[in-house]
Amino acid sequence: MSKTMIEPCPFCGSEEVKRISPKLESGVRKVYRIWQVVCLACEARGSSSTVKTIAVARWNSVERVKSDFKN
Ligand SMILES: [Zn+2]
Repeated sequence: MSKTMIEPCPFCGSEEVKRISPKLESGVRKVYRIWQVVCLACEARGSSSTVKTIAVARWNSVERVKSDFKN
């Protein structure tokens, strides 16, 4: 369990989520890769971060609706 798993989408429950780096940001001397988790089903986006694992952690920490709509 050393790998950080991306949780299913908190909004639609889809497991079709992807970790992406949608843009490069130029700093003074450096180009930053901005990571973000995006749901391919409903296009929800997590908070972005320059650190991959943080972007995933932020996505995973989004409050999830208790899945009692799926009984
Ligand atoms: Zn979704």
